[in-house]
Amino acid sequence: MATRTIAAIRTAAVEANDFDALLGALKHQGYQVKGPVLRDSAVVYDDLGSTDEMPIGWVDVPEPARYRLTRRDERSLFGYTVGANPWKAILHPPDVRLWSAVRDAGGFHLVTESGPDAPLALVGVRACDLAALNLLDRVLLGGSHADPIYAARRSRALIVAVNCTRAGSTCFCASMGTGPAVGPGADLVITELLRSREHRLIVSVESERGAEVMEAVPHEPARDTDIVQAKTLVDRAKREAGPHRVNMTGMRELLLNSLESPCWDDVAARCLTCGNCTNVCPTCFCTSVHDTTDVHGAHAERTRVADSCFTMAYSYATGGSVRYSPSARCRQWLVHKFATWVDQFGSPGCVGCGRCLTWCPVGIDVTQVLGRIRRSSQGRPAVECDMPANAGRKEVSDANAPG
Ligand code: SF4
Ligand code: SF4
Repeated sequence: MATRTIAAIRTAAVEANDFDALLGALKHQGYQVKGPVLRDSAVVYDDLGSTDEMPIGWVDVPEPARYRLTRRDERSLFGYTVGANPWKAILHPPDVRLWSAVRDAGGFHLVTESGPDAPLALVGVRACDLAALNLLDRVLLGGSHADPIYAARRSRALIVAVNCTRAGSTCFCASMGTGPAVGPGADLVITELLRSREHRLIVSVESERGAEVMEAVPHEPARDTDIVQAKTLVDRAKREAGPHRVNMTGMRELLLNSLESPCWDDVAARCLTCGNCTNVCPTCFCTSVHDTTDVHGAHAERTRVADSCFTMAYSYATGGSVRYSPSARCRQWLVHKFATWVDQFGSPGCVGCGRCLTWCPVGIDVTQVLGRIRRSSQGRPAVECDMPANAGRKEVSDANAPG
């Protein structure tokens, strides 16, 4: 394929066989590459060395309380929707030492922690997940107390985003206005085109850093037909991505006026308060700190760990938990996500990725809960949202389980 300077091309076409050249260029430029790999029968984001490690030909079939991978007769690199783990696990680590101290003859000495040596390249970031990173930026970098751990990772991170050309049954980015087309903040945006005799990646160059990477990747200008097909596929995905799944009109006021709704008790009757939903949510950011010392008092350290509003300890204050009942904790999570987050950060805290539906062991579907609260507030019968019969299953449809 002829190579022309990327500065002259805003939208390039790269043969799928050359995707390794893009990964190689990232590594050559000093990035630590993270991307989709197969592990434990799921697509997860982790160290990505080469295309061979990607979930080639696999698509995810997420449902409430159920996750399934199925094989497609395709060579797709990005056929899945979102990884099981959110990108926050890399940028806002769930377990990080803040400081440690050692005591010697001269007294106590603080040992400072260093950030990652290499900048990160995040490959395969979906529209909803990029919107989630933009939200986390407001939470963790906005205001007068920026989080230095997140800032060290995020400020140098290069984003290779991917437009969705199919949506999972749990996706509702179209309701939340976050996808499936990638919004602002990416360095490169890929749309994968699979034709009978052609497999190419249409790459939109969105930044200087993205252009520098593309200089080392064989490419040619995208054809008009490529660009039209890419748009058609993303438009189709938008129709699949739950555009009417959540009615966000007046949602903040609805929830704030429904704090005493009986729906919270109904949800809590099924909720295990396990916190899985907050673990997988790409925007949940709550943490706690733990201090430990050795028995001799010669070593001490403070560790920050991910926490959840579903634990009693998280709201512990002066002798008891403020949110003692499961009902209060369910309400806290949803009212914060869809109402008071707007007051704090200017938009809802949900991007419609659907992970909380998939990984809730009892299949609680936040979109159903919100619909139920709306119907209940209008005096209409609340439709039951029962636990799916297949709750809690993770499986692959191929005997050769990946990962
Ligand atoms: S909603 Fe589901 S995932 Fe979240 S705490 Fe309750 S049972 Fe766990
Ligand atoms: S609340 Fe659920 S659907 Fe919304 S961003 Fe969090 S995990 Fe995704």
